[in-house]
Amino acid sequence: MLEGSCHCGAVRLTLPSAPDKATDCNCSLCRRIGGPWVYYEFGTVKIEGHPERTSEYIWGDKTLRTVRCTSCGCVTHWEPLSPTPGAKHGVNLANFNPRLLASVRVRRFDGADTWKFID
Ligand SMILES: [Zn+2]
Repeated sequence: MLEGSCHCGAVRLTLPSAPDKATDCNCSLCRRIGGPWVYYEFGTVKIEGHPERTSEYIWGDKTLRTVRCTSCGCVTHWEPLSPTPGAKHGVNLANFNPRLLASVRVRRFDGADTWKFID
């Protein structure tokens, strides 16, 4: 359940623990690429096939890269460009067994405007 991958399998992720919540964000990027996102301390998620099989997208205030598989195009995660100790990164829960998503509370986050939860 804690192992997931992009559609073609080139990028594989293993979560360090089961998430208990996820975030559905409506910012200009997330509303296009989806999610929902789960967050872990940067470096604790095992990621294979990255960066060899991935490409990145950096926008806005340029604090993070959004990473996708170069073969199938699925967005797998985002990570900080300049990680500080304890920094978080986000994993796209859509790349995992749907039962994992079904097991968590998904909260709606207004990343487009107020930066607050709107549920
Ligand atoms: Zn892929």
